[in-house]
Amino acid sequence: MRRPMVAGNWKMNGTRASVAELIEALREQKLPSKVEIVVFPSCVHASQVLRGLEGLAVAVGSQDCAGQPGFGALTGEISATQLVDVGCEWVLVGHSERRLVLGEDDEVVSRKFAAALGCGLKPILCLGESLEERQAGQTLEVVGRQLAHVVAEVGIAAFERAVVAYEPVWAIGSGLTATPEQAQEVHAAIRKQLAQEDERVANGVRILYGGSVKAENAVELFGMADIDGGLIGGASLKANEFGAICRAAGN
Ligand code: PEP
Repeated sequence: MRRPMVAGNWKMNGTRASVAELIEALREQKLPSKVEIVVFPSCVHASQVLRGLEGLAVAVGSQDCAGQPGFGALTGEISATQLVDVGCEWVLVGHSERRLVLGEDDEVVSRKFAAALGCGLKPILCLGESLEERQAGQTLEVVGRQLAHVVAEVGIAAFERAVVAYEPVWAIGSGLTATPEQAQEVHAAIRKQLAQEDERVANGVRILYGGSVKAENAVELFGMADIDGGLIGGASLKANEFGAICRAAGN
């Protein structure tokens, strides 16, 4: 049985004051203990969020990490070693905004995934196709290729300590959501691809859906056989909405 998970990606948002308000509002939510909940604030707010959420069963992650563990001459980067040191448990790897806006390719994504795991940080590997790729019927090929690269680099056993997130690029921040059937098709294909390497690992790995998830569409999406929860962007900045999505994952 896979434990449902809801992850909130706060992206490049927030000031100390607005983050404090969000923490307070999250503390007022009734969050289901059955669901694993993680929030990903901007790194500059990680310590504030860790302190603010103390006592609550909500873990904190980073939206990115360097592809190189440890310490060194890499101006502006933050390593998985440093993230673990401040108390982060998770990291997003390969988010489409980093792939498309910042030019991270499968090679870079695989390196970051390996660096995270090597330091004890659990990665959420984000995969997804663009609208053009979907319209050209290339969704499964694109997602399969992104996944295969990481599996080849780190090995299937690494997925015992990782989570996969399917996030169609056209659904991120657009208000468009994949239908539960569209998402399920890709989630099932991801699990099948992992099962070709190791069925036990594939059955245990959680695959989250991300892309304009809201309280109103979460129940239907999370009801699909291979959707184990969600990676939530915009809606995770509203505590009521995020709380409702977490409760939907617990039903
Ligand atoms: C995301 O950025 O990972 C995401 C899913 O964003 P949104 O929920 O806003 O579409």
